[in-house]
Amino acid sequence: MAGLAVVLGVVAVAQGPGMRGGTRVAPGQPCPPGTTETRPGNCQAPELPAPSILDYRPTSTLVTAQHPVPKAKFPAIDVHGHPGNLTTPDAINRVVAEMDKLNLRMMVVAENVSGDRLARTLQALAASPHRDRFRVMAGVDFRNVGPGWAERAVAQLDADVKAGAVGVGEISKAFGLNIRKPDGSRLKVDDPALDPLWQAFARLDVPVFMHTAEPQEFFRPLDYTNERWLELALFPSRRNNHPGQVSFEELMSERNNVFRRHPKTRFIAAHFGWHANDLGRAAKMLDEFPNVTVEAGAILYDLGRQPRGAHDFFVKHQDRIMFGKDSFQPDEYPYYWRVFETTDEYFDYYRDYHAFWKLYGMGLPDAVLKKVYADNARRVIKGLPR
Ligand SMILES: [Zn+2]
Repeated sequence: MAGLAVVLGVVAVAQGPGMRGGTRVAPGQPCPPGTTETRPGNCQAPELPAPSILDYRPTSTLVTAQHPVPKAKFPAIDVHGHPGNLTTPDAINRVVAEMDKLNLRMMVVAENVSGDRLARTLQALAASPHRDRFRVMAGVDFRNVGPGWAERAVAQLDADVKAGAVGVGEISKAFGLNIRKPDGSRLKVDDPALDPLWQAFARLDVPVFMHTAEPQEFFRPLDYTNERWLELALFPSRRNNHPGQVSFEELMSERNNVFRRHPKTRFIAAHFGWHANDLGRAAKMLDEFPNVTVEAGAILYDLGRQPRGAHDFFVKHQDRIMFGKDSFQPDEYPYYWRVFETTDEYFDYYRDYHAFWKLYGMGLPDAVLKKVYADNARRVIKGLPR
């Protein structure tokens, strides 16, 4: 409702010949709802009813070179794989057939599973001719953190790594956002009870792949200034602007406390640590924490709307960024290849509700592409086949 307050002080005025009546606003003031600025300081409502944001689908008249990229230029590793169940030869074959079409050489399965469920996947893969196309991360159960929890979690991690897990992840956004301790309080990301676990990752020399918080806009009021309005209106569970809810900034500082306190543990911040909309902040995080790398899943809409800044960021931090996709929708990978590899302009993203804007290619050099697609993953996740 913040938008309505600015209507005060606005006066309707008559216009010159040929123009319909408008509303004057003081310099710097926004136009009232339902109107747009047609001349400096003059706001006018359209003569025809305006379509909703769902129904306004203009066809671009821009004619420009198009270079879709169905296959990655170099063999890629997806470090943020959610292929679903991989416990049968059929399921494995189906995923591999899709991976081949995309030039996806390998997938790191990040389904956050542990113990028997992890073992079933590892066994199925070990028996498969495609065993070198996958590696699997283990999971951590953050429920019931209290006395004895750390010992149990570390023992499970030891067993999972021994069984063949190459790291842990994806630690879900629920950790920090809404997992509670037995006393009902929120389990903070930097709760000291978890320190033995973070230390165990360093001892075992395996990375932690962690999704902390959500896009900043998910924590803001759901008004018409929120650039994720449509997504939040569609998905109530993504709204994190409730009274008493932890804020984005609190989560970021808890996460950074963990990065700081465990310099020997390798952390992979999923989704660019949710700083792809503020690359200066992403750079600051990488500069402050040499033990942290970022993964580029599900933030393509932010990279593709700032192709020059994103290009320079990728070149500067080329050893710290890994390709990851998140949800396994084979049709969506080519959008990533196109943004990374081409200099195409003004093309569609794959989900309108994520981004109502267009994307532009970053035109990354080959040397950077190779690192982002594969070399960095091989360095950070040591158990990947060559
Ligand atoms: Zn994920």
